[in-house]
Amino acid sequence: MTDRPAELATNLRRLRARVDAACTAADRDPAEVTVIAVTKTFPASDVRLLAELGVADIGENRDQETRRKLADLRDLSVRWHFVGGLQRNKARSVAGWADVVHSVDRSELVAVLGRAAIRRERPLVALVQVALDDDPAPGRAGAPAADVERLADEIAGTDGLRLGGVMAVAPLLADPDPAFTRLAELAHKVRAAHPQATMLSAGMSGDLESAVRHGATHLRIGTALLGARSAPVR
Ligand SMILES: *Cc1c(COP(=O)(O)O)cnc(C)c1O
Repeated sequence: MTDRPAELATNLRRLRARVDAACTAADRDPAEVTVIAVTKTFPASDVRLLAELGVADIGENRDQETRRKLADLRDLSVRWHFVGGLQRNKARSVAGWADVVHSVDRSELVAVLGRAAIRRERPLVALVQVALDDDPAPGRAGAPAADVERLADEIAGTDGLRLGGVMAVAPLLADPDPAFTRLAELAHKVRAAHPQATMLSAGMSGDLESAVRHGATHLRIGTALLGARSAPVR
C-alpha cells in the first residue's frame, strides 16, 4: 500500500521546483504562474489531499465524473476548472460547478454558458480554446486561429460571462515551441482588444517549460502530480 499523502506531497514539491526553475530560466516571477491540478480519473480523496497541501485550483474534464467527486468535496474552497471537450447539452451542467471553463471553441457554447451563468447568479470565466494543429482534424477540440478573436469578442459581450483569455493543448508528439509561439501571438491580440483577458492556459506535464517561456499563466498538470492515469481519458 502506498502512502498517498507523502507521494502527493513529494510530487507537488518536485513540480513546484520545476515550475520555479522554468520561471527563472524565462526571467518570470513564479507568482504569475498558477498550477491547476488536473485530477481526472483520480478519486475525490486525492483532490482533498492536494487541497490540504495548498493546491487552490483543480481541473476536471468530465461533467459526470466531477459531479460524483463533488458530492464528497462540498466543503473545499478550491477553484474548479473545466478543461475537457464541451458538448452543448453538458454546458449547463458544467456551469453548475465550474468557476472557469477553458474549452469554449464555438459560438453555440457562448450563449448557453452565458444563460447558465445568469441562472446561477455568479459570473463564469470563459477561455477560448485554440486549435494549434496546422490542419485540425474534424472533432479535434479548439477553434481555428482565424475564429479566435471573434469568439473572444462574443464571450466578452455576453452577460454572465467574463472573458479570461485563451487556452490550448500543444500538438501531440511535436515540438511545442512553434505552437506556443502562435498561441502567444493570439493571446496578445485578444488582450489588445480586452485588457482584462490576461489568462494564458498552456502547458501540461510534458511541456510546461516551453509554455512558461511563451507566457503561460495557468499550467494544467495531471501526470506529474498524480502519476500515470490507468485509462486514457481526454
Ligand atoms: C489531462 C489534461 C491535462 C493534464 O495532462 P498531463 O500530461 O497529465 O499533465 C492538461 N490539459 C488537458 C486539457 C487535459 O485533458
